[in-house]
Amino acid sequence: MEILFLGTGAFDYQPGLEGQYRDKFDCDCRRSSSVLVDGRLMIDCGDYALNSLAIAGVKKKQIADLLITHTHRDHCRPDLIEKLAAAVPGGLNVWCHESAAAFFPESAHYAVHSLRCGEPEQIGGFSVSALYANHRTERTEERPVHYVLEKGGKKIFYGCDGAWFLTPTFYALMHAGFSLFVFDGTVGDYDGDFRICEHNSIPMVRKLIVSMKPLGVFADNCKIYISHLAPSLHAPHRETSRKLAAEGILVAHDGLVETV
Ligand SMILES: [Zn+2]
Ligand SMILES: [Zn+2]
Repeated sequence: MEILFLGTGAFDYQPGLEGQYRDKFDCDCRRSSSVLVDGRLMIDCGDYALNSLAIAGVKKKQIADLLITHTHRDHCRPDLIEKLAAAVPGGLNVWCHESAAAFFPESAHYAVHSLRCGEPEQIGGFSVSALYANHRTERTEERPVHYVLEKGGKKIFYGCDGAWFLTPTFYALMHAGFSLFVFDGTVGDYDGDFRICEHNSIPMVRKLIVSMKPLGVFADNCKIYISHLAPSLHAPHRETSRKLAAEGILVAHDGLVETV
């Protein structure tokens, strides 16, 4: 599988996105978090997702399925999904947890499909499972989710947004042998930030990795990433990247392509 990080930021966008970096990627200018897998399955479509697709040279019409993790606007903008869907011949399939389905307005261009945790779906050649995330939105009935994608014997985990893992999710990750694992890395390398109630800090990711490794969560040579970094809470990308590489943690940036 090939994963393209379209955006790797949290909600505190840098001014450069409207200025010098409007039409290009830069590792220190992070757009709304989103990924594209094998050029056809996208996860999340928030504030800057269409901008990222254009910069990456991805044609909207090649996207057949869109998975939504939750309805915060840095992950889900129905008006932008409408624009994306209008360019997809035959329409776009939007997939979300059943608790988020009512969020979407009626559309002539996309159909909304509900997912349930613990009930994998076959979506465009991928087996897709939703797992509950420790995160919340203002819509109290909504249950944000992480996603597991499986194809050709490889597994990818995408966990933005969420802090730690809820117990049923943690059990589902055990012995899974992921080839690529994406942690929420919103908060930087320090303690004392209130956002850890629903996002990870780097010290939390460290603790998770050492606890999860012996439980078979990661396959040998698993590529372990953090994404959804809040620029205001992190050192510059190259500094963070250099420091964490020594610990086996990779730092995603907008436009990065990884293959497993
Ligand atoms: Zn977010
Ligand atoms: Zn969120």
